[in-house]
Amino acid sequence: MSTDRSLARCSFCGRHASEVKRIVAGPGAAYICDACLQLCNEILQDSAPFSPKALELASRPPVVTSAPPQTPTTLKGESTSSETQEPERVVNLEIEQKQQGMTLLLHRLCYYQQYFEIQYLWMRPPLASGFAFVPRIIFSLQDDIGNHWFGDRGGTLLARPDLGNGSEEIIYQGSARFRPALKAESKQLTVLAADPLGLFESPIIPPWKFEVHIP
Ligand SMILES: [Zn+2]
Repeated sequence: MSTDRSLARCSFCGRHASEVKRIVAGPGAAYICDACLQLCNEILQDSAPFSPKALELASRPPVVTSAPPQTPTTLKGESTSSETQEPERVVNLEIEQKQQGMTLLLHRLCYYQQYFEIQYLWMRPPLASGFAFVPRIIFSLQDDIGNHWFGDRGGTLLARPDLGNGSEEIIYQGSARFRPALKAESKQLTVLAADPLGLFESPIIPPWKFEVHIP
């Protein structure tokens, strides 16, 4: 499969070629940027078998490294590239909640033919320096006609330092994808969202809970 190299992203951190100093192309759609190469070097220098940096790297969510130039149809006409697919319907939410010093803002609800997405911003204090963990939020959703979704498939999370206010807060822009698609009859969505790392806090950080009314 041929790939459009202008869409290249580091397979380890998800940053585009334009966002890093150097990017090295590997076979197929695999790339690595200078910062992640540096991190790998640091992991090699550390003799500990399970160093925090190695664990952090291994636990990052997978990155979609590049997209084919066209969007061939695969499963029942579903595009392989979500970025080029327009949602059939968009509901602006703009509801936010603060919990233990972290704010979750639900931005939009996007309907597609085969799935739906919740786009969100996650504002939180930066993690300890030298620990470049790419965090992730997990979801549990329930609508008013008995459907339940758990987790997300094909979601993305990008650090957006350009939106933050410096060192006090880091903003992450995420989208979580759920299947099957949300039905037009669903008028109410209960959204539970949790930071998995919050489970290790003492006391455990409870999930955010949103009641979303769909017009
Ligand atoms: Zn990288």
